[in-house]
Order: sequence, then C-alpha cells, then structure tokens
Amino acid sequence: MKIMHAILNIFYPNHIKCVLCNKEISNEKYDMCEKCRNSLPLLGGNLCLRCGQEILEHNKYCDNCKRHTWCFEKAISAVKYTDKMISLVHRLKYHNGKYLADIMADIMIDGLKNFDIPFDIIVPVPMSVQKQKSRGYNQAELLANAVATKLNKPVDTTTLLRIRENISQTELSAKNRWDNMQGAFATNGHSFAGQNVLIIDDVYTTGATVNECSKILKTKSHANCVYILTFAHSQGQENKHNKKEQKRIIKQKLKKEKNRKI
Ligand SMILES: [Zn+2]
Ligand SMILES: [Zn+2]
Repeated sequence: MKIMHAILNIFYPNHIKCVLCNKEISNEKYDMCEKCRNSLPLLGGNLCLRCGQEILEHNKYCDNCKRHTWCFEKAISAVKYTDKMISLVHRLKYHNGKYLADIMADIMIDGLKNFDIPFDIIVPVPMSVQKQKSRGYNQAELLANAVATKLNKPVDTTTLLRIRENISQTELSAKNRWDNMQGAFATNGHSFAGQNVLIIDDVYTTGATVNECSKILKTKSHANCVYILTFAHSQGQENKHNKKEQKRIIKQKLKKEKNRKI
C-alpha cells in the first residue's frame, strides 16, 4: 500500500480521489475527474424564471410557479437531482461528508454566476436545535458558510430560527408539505431592513420550505428582496409530467409509423 502511494505521488503529486467515481486524480476542478465533471447534470437551457427548473422552450414559468404566489423573487439551483447528485447530497447530510460542502459550493457559485442577483447577506435554511445536536451539523449552514467565504459576503445563522421540526418532508405529499411548514420558522428580532437576502439550502423540492423562510424574513425581519440558491433542483412534478408526455408522444408516433408500414 505504501509503495502504491509512493508511485501515485510521482504521477499525481497531491493526488486525491474523484468525489463521484473514486478515480485517482491530481488537483482538478470540483475534485472530480474530467469524465464526471463533464457529465454533471448542470441546469441550463430554458429555465423557469421563478424557480429555476428546466421547462419546455416556449414557457416562461413551470406549472408549479403558475399556480403559486411565491414570497421570494427568484430561485436558482446548480444541478438536477439525478441519482449521482442524490448520493452526493446524502453523503453530505447523513454520512458526515462535510468536506463535500466546499466542492458543492463551487458548483453553486458557478450556477449563480449565470444570473445577476444583487444580494447583501446569506442566510442558510435553519435546523431545529435538537436536530442539529443529533446530526452534529446543518448541511445548509455548511454550504452557506462555504459560499459566503468564497464570495466574501456576510452570513447570518442566528436571525432565522427553526422552532418546530416537522415530519420528514420526504415522507409527505406535495400538498402536505405546505401545511407542514406553517409555523416552523421564526426570527430572533434582528432586522434585515433595506437588505437583500440569499437563502441557501441543499435541495429545492416543492419550494415550500424556502417560501416559508422568505415569508418570515420579509414579514418579521423586513428583508427587501429574497433570493434562493440551492445545490440541486428536484424538478418537481412538472418534469415528471413532461417526461410522461414526451413518452406518450413518442409512443403515438411509433404506433402511427407501424400502422403506415402495415
Ligand atoms: Zn470521476
Ligand atoms: Zn417554476
């Protein structure tokens, strides 16, 4: 093992492993090998102007955003929540993968650079005191601290408080997530008057959590504008619907072609 290490050091000084496939690499962007970096599911193309998910080209907003009145101005995510990105987020959250926050923050910042977001201060989605004690850390706070350090912006982890931890959001339907968020957050009384806040979380799912945070920051802390930055966007129901719709169209086409041949 020592010999192997010595050989690797000759070819790859300061060698590390790709965070996605474990391949040995030297210093590379995002600590990823070229192949993994090039296959990152970065969000691009036509994005919903409000929640930042990919939508069909002729649309401005996704179906979800057409239905809701949001308390935030705009949400931006860096990647789609594919299986590989799910496992990365899970390593950060549940397997003490704190070191990943730095890499994920770099990817988030590159996503944020595509937009002109005039924010003054960063606020992570908070965790209840009990939950943070049992997990040991809040992954949104790790991401927020890393983004803030890299962009040289202040971060506030004390104003927005989570006063009630709900049933795990992942176990709830989209509708119930909204009811589940009511009264979950509060503030310590500090004012963000005249300031634009950038809320940071790991994943944007229905928008219920970040919307409730935005509501509290605007109504209780008098924040001016609130923006959202998350690592991944689960692409909601709209995308699943689109995929189903696209499959249905392809099936129809194939059927027609088959009938023509007969
Ligand atoms: Zn790799
Ligand atoms: Zn949307």
